[in-house]
Amino acid sequence: MTKPLGPNIIEWPETGHPQPSDLADLAPVPDGSNNPVEELQDDIDLIIATDLANAPRSKKTTIGPSELGHECSRWIGYKQLGTQVLNPQPIAWRPAVGTGVHALLEGAFHRANTYVGSTRFLVEQKVTVGEVLGEPITGSCDLVDRVNATTVDWKIVGPTTLRKVKSAGSPSDRYRIQAHAYARGFNRAGVRVNRVSVYYLPSNGEYYEGHLWHEPYDEQIVLNALSRVEAITTLVKNVGTTGLTLLPTADAYCGRCPYFRAGSTDLAQGCPGDPAVTNRWTANINSLIA
Ligand code: SF4
Repeated sequence: MTKPLGPNIIEWPETGHPQPSDLADLAPVPDGSNNPVEELQDDIDLIIATDLANAPRSKKTTIGPSELGHECSRWIGYKQLGTQVLNPQPIAWRPAVGTGVHALLEGAFHRANTYVGSTRFLVEQKVTVGEVLGEPITGSCDLVDRVNATTVDWKIVGPTTLRKVKSAGSPSDRYRIQAHAYARGFNRAGVRVNRVSVYYLPSNGEYYEGHLWHEPYDEQIVLNALSRVEAITTLVKNVGTTGLTLLPTADAYCGRCPYFRAGSTDLAQGCPGDPAVTNRWTANINSLIA
C-alpha cells in the first residue's frame, strides 16, 4: 500500500467511494505486480480490520439501548467509567456480517416505503429511550411498522442461537430490554408502538428458518433497566474503580469482554472474569492435564 495503515484506530474517511469516470485517465500507482500475494492479503486484512475498528458502533463510548440490559453489572460499571479497551479484540467479523445484513434490509424497507408511497416503515430511526443521570440514552431502531404499531429488531444469528431461541420461546433479557427500550423511545416521540418484536434471521441458513418473537410493549421493563444502570453509574461515578468490586458479575462471554484481563487482581487494570467462567476454565485445564 502506498499509505501505511495501523494501528487499528486511525483517521479513517467516513464516506465517499468515487468511481473513476475514465479508466484511461487513472493516476499511476507503484508497480507491485511481482509482489508476493501474501502482501496483498496483509493489506486486505489490515484494511478490513481498520474499517471495522473505526465503525461508529465500535467507537461508541456511551451506553446504548442494546447494552441497557447487559447481564454483567460490572461491565456496565466499566463502560460508564469510560474505560478504554483492556483486552485487545479480534476482528469483529460476525457482528460485521450482521451489519451487512442490516444494511441490506434497511434498503429493502426504504424501497418498500417508496413503492407504497408513504412512510409505513421507519427505518434505522434514532430515538431517545430514556435518561441516566440526566444523560440521554439514544439508539437507532432497525424498523418500526407504523401500520402494526410494532418495532422489529433484526438479530442475525448462527444455528445454535437460533435453535436455543426457538426452544426457549423468548429472547435473552438483554434483547428483550433493548426491544422495549426502542418502543419507549417511539412512544415518547409520539409514534404509537404497542408491540415489540425480534426477528432472528440465520447467518448460515435459509431465510425461512428465521424466527419472529413478539410481545406487548411494557414500559416498566425499560424503567427497571434504566434504574439499574443509573444505580451502577451513580456508584462508579462517586467512588471510581473501587465501586467495580461491589458490582455483581455474570458469565457474559468474559474471554471476549473488552475489560477482561486474565488473573487480574486489580480491577483498574482489568477484570479476571466471572468466577463461574474462571472455575470452568480451570476445570477444563485440569481435566486436560489429569
Ligand atoms: S470479564 Fe466478565 S465478569 Fe468481568 S466485566 Fe467482563 S463480562 Fe463482566
